[in-house]
Amino acid sequence: GVADFCDLEKLCVLGHGNHSIVYKVLHRPTSAIYAMKMVREDISSPCLSHETEILACTDSPFVVKCHGIFEPRAGEKAILMEYMDAGTLDTVLRANGPFSETLLAHVAHQALNGLSYLHSCNIVHLDIKPSNLLVSKDMNVKIGDFGVSRIVNDTSSTTYDNLGSQGTYAYMSPERLDSQRFGSGDVCAGDVWSLGVSLWELYVGHFPFFQAGKRPSWMEVVMVICFGEFPCLPKQASREFGNFLECCLEREPSKRWTVSQLLSHPFVCMDREP
Ligand code: ATP
Ligand code: MG
Repeated sequence: GVADFCDLEKLCVLGHGNHSIVYKVLHRPTSAIYAMKMVREDISSPCLSHETEILACTDSPFVVKCHGIFEPRAGEKAILMEYMDAGTLDTVLRANGPFSETLLAHVAHQALNGLSYLHSCNIVHLDIKPSNLLVSKDMNVKIGDFGVSRIVNDTSSTTYDNLGSQGTYAYMSPERLDSQRFGSGDVCAGDVWSLGVSLWELYVGHFPFFQAGKRPSWMEVVMVICFGEFPCLPKQASREFGNFLECCLEREPSKRWTVSQLLSHPFVCMDREP
């Protein structure tokens, strides 16, 4: 393991978010490569404690592994993680273009395994999207970025009022955008919705509810997610994939398929076939 923060050498920047920078780092004594997320702890973003807490307690092949948490300076945390050498599903999409159904079945299978693990630990991710799904060159997919995630006592009785409003609204479920109208199911159902939108995006190559290149406003996104008619999948899409997306994107959270139901959906089972 890595005992001393001073043994780590920054090699380059892998990415950044609103409150963080992620570096590729070298552990000099072992020559091992890691990713290190540097987060400033300010009073206006009290979420950091959740991120480190969640990473410290999770252990799954489908969740990015944490190898240590350091505090190099007061008010700054360094989260050492396994390095995912193909970046995120978003980087892969930009580099290679839209995903085949075979590849998507594999991605769906692994992401669902990750969500199944997290939900069994009473962790809701709350920000599932292509840029938070990390990937290796051999296409192992792991859930990352727990910046807005929460550990709850009981996912079925928790409401979004208690979970904060951070996240990426384009991937948010109807019940999270408008809890009055859509009722509140199990908060785990929100992660399923976000995964459905993500897979659809990876298939068509752009955010699915709008034409490629269009940057919709918050209101336009809410209108289409909560009330609009969804676009059709391209003609060549299989019935299994189309049905899988319908099961993820059921507007009523109580009717939406759960992670364990989706794990035995015919589309996901395609991944197990030789
Ligand atoms: P955002 O606010 O944009 O969601 P963030 O500040 O929450 O970002 P992360 O999503 O955790 O930060 O990481 C930002 C980027 O850094 C990722 O999109 C990815 O490109 C890169 N990255 C993060 N973790 C790793 C890792 N373990 N291996 C390789 N690259 C990583
Ligand atoms: Mg992120």
